Amino acid sequence: MTTTTATTYVDLHCHSTASDGTLSPAQVVQLARDSGLSALALTDHDTAGGIHEAQNEANRLGIDFLPGIEISAEFPHPGTLHILGYGVNPDSPQLKSLTETLLSGRDNRNPRIIEKLNQLGVAITLQEVEDEAKKDLADPAGSKKPIGRPHIAAVLLRKGYVSSVKQAFDKYLAQGAPAYFDKERLTPRQALQCIRDSGGLPVLAHPIQLRTENDAQLDRIVKDLVDLGLAGIEIFHSDHDATWVAKCTQLADHYHLLKTGGSDFHGTNKKDIRLGVANGNRVPRDLFDNLRQALGR
Ligand code: AMP
Ligand code: ZN
Ligand code: FE
Ligand code: FE
Repeated sequence: MTTTTATTYVDLHCHSTASDGTLSPAQVVQLARDSGLSALALTDHDTAGGIHEAQNEANRLGIDFLPGIEISAEFPHPGTLHILGYGVNPDSPQLKSLTETLLSGRDNRNPRIIEKLNQLGVAITLQEVEDEAKKDLADPAGSKKPIGRPHIAAVLLRKGYVSSVKQAFDKYLAQGAPAYFDKERLTPRQALQCIRDSGGLPVLAHPIQLRTENDAQLDRIVKDLVDLGLAGIEIFHSDHDATWVAKCTQLADHYHLLKTGGSDFHGTNKKDIRLGVANGNRVPRDLFDNLRQALGR
């Protein structure tokens, strides 16, 4: 482990063009360096496609790096349950099979969303959305990339149907909006098990997005996840104000969970979020070190 005297900062939750961010994996690492961060974990949705590029750039720049992934699990409306997997082996057959399952869930969904948009008089095609997703990939032919609603939003924006990504979600794509169509998800049990099978540690992302009605319900959900093998909980996140940071810290202490934190940076797809900053909080280095230690690296 590195011995550092001064506190340095890290970011353990960010997205690249391998999923729905707007910077390439190498560019995210460069931005981490330029932002003064000493370590980074890349957590693209449903894919480890950016891990090797980011790892290589981190090695080159002398930034510590952990591979990661973020997957969505089944959870009742209106909440969402996202599980981060840290330390997953991007080359393991278990991870490949996991990401293939997740990608096919998206392949089934995207045409349905396009169909609904067409019925609403919005003239866009699946091909346009696929081209949008691939345009910023270094190796468009060789990579299978999770296509998501942000890519659909980008096409709507480019074609003038909306004036911002946010408006695309509000008007068409968000849960409850007229072109929403859910994707098949893993159960929480499957999500946690798949991450463990891939050599990773499962961490509950942004608990505020569970949209629990009260603290007792939140506690029960966390306890159930702990029983299924949860290893950590995200404390710092761009959606977490001081109350949520405190709530999640308490849960982590109570259930002996690792604490993590990150910005959920997406480049210009989420314009208000800066790499390394989670709602005004910075993420201290020891969270990264504890995670790496728990992974035995
Ligand atoms: P998908 O993976 O296709 O379900 O899309 C989920 C992604 O869409 C999230 O990770 C965000 O990046 C983005 N997203 C979800 N809701 C919104 C929103 N209201 N405004 C902007 N982006 C959103
Ligand atoms: Zn995203
Ligand atoms: Fe998320
Ligand atoms: Fe995220």
